[in-house]
Amino acid sequence: IDGMTTNHRIALIPGDGIGAEVLPPARQVLDVLGRRHGFSLSYTSYDWSCERYLREGAMMPADGIDQLRDKDAILLGAVGYPGVPDHESLWGLLIPIRRSFRQYVNLRPIRVFEGIDSPVRGARPGEVDVVVVRENMEGEYSEVGGRLNRGFPDEIAVQEAVFTRAGVTRVLDYAFTLASQRGGRLTSATKSNGIVHTMPFWDQLVTERAASFPQVAWDQEHIDALAAKFVLEPARFDVVVASNLFGDILSDLAAAVAGSIGIAPAANLNPERDFPSMFEPVHGSAPDIAGQGIANPLGAIWSAAMMLDHLGHPAAARDITDAIASILAKTDIRTRDLGGTATTAEFTDKLIELL
Ligand code: ATP
Ligand code: MG
Repeated sequence: IDGMTTNHRIALIPGDGIGAEVLPPARQVLDVLGRRHGFSLSYTSYDWSCERYLREGAMMPADGIDQLRDKDAILLGAVGYPGVPDHESLWGLLIPIRRSFRQYVNLRPIRVFEGIDSPVRGARPGEVDVVVVRENMEGEYSEVGGRLNRGFPDEIAVQEAVFTRAGVTRVLDYAFTLASQRGGRLTSATKSNGIVHTMPFWDQLVTERAASFPQVAWDQEHIDALAAKFVLEPARFDVVVASNLFGDILSDLAAAVAGSIGIAPAANLNPERDFPSMFEPVHGSAPDIAGQGIANPLGAIWSAAMMLDHLGHPAAARDITDAIASILAKTDIRTRDLGGTATTAEFTDKLIELL
């Protein structure tokens, strides 16, 4: 039997704070599903983190990317530490992984679950089921630019956004394909009335790609108008595609609409599968609650479900999202961020029981 089981090599990067508290629950859930669905996972753990940065001056070793290269997927907890600037963890770990492994799609599903209070009146449970597809490698988050005349009255800062035909086309293809497999609707978010070169280019490429997906009903919105509609009527959206910056903002907004940052998952995907993809909860290291054993593990567990989907086990992934929906709809057990008193371990045990 052993010879017939697929094994997946998983890199675990717990990171800082609650990152290290939410990955073990995700692993427990994964192991249950492996037994049920006939696959196995072998793990290699890495202590790459802001704590390592403080100790050794780098988030990861110089050959860190090479150590991950042969893995099938990466599961990350969270990185961030009081006193370590965010750009260290971003540019010292997350961005090198995203770029080296061409994870050009950042995928963030948002659902308003039964049993969760959304701060938004129009977000009725069960009706909101959106995926934000964010371009993850280029766009506004570029290093091109600079500052001149520091401290003088004529001081100036310039930041260039870089959009390439290849880079935009591939993320649009991913989004259109996803929309055709889901509800058949796609919304593209830009700001072409204000940003007059890159955004009209994006719009043009949307129109070009749309011709290959006649089954998808698509439209484009200005990001400001879209943000407002997202709050007023989130249920009208299915797949939303946006540039790196706009997608970043929109997916945090959407996660807030869903009711808790502790539940939201994210995937950094390399759709070609020539390099590992990375899965991580949306939340950070939460230093305010770290070490207390009360973090909500659902964001990490849902991220693990996305990982299984990517590794070719959609039924196992669905088992996880069904169990998440059912623990929220059918029980009162909640971690503190959701108004309850359960510990991470108690919440995880209940979820596994439901599984
Ligand atoms: P970082 O700098 O690592 O991004 P942060 O404090 O900016 O950390 P988060 O870590 O996402 O951002 O935390 C935002 C708030 O949400 C905090 O009050 C935190 O306690 C809470 N929070 C985040 N994730 C969880 C979780 N999984 N369970 C419970 N509370 C959470
Ligand atoms: Mg933060």
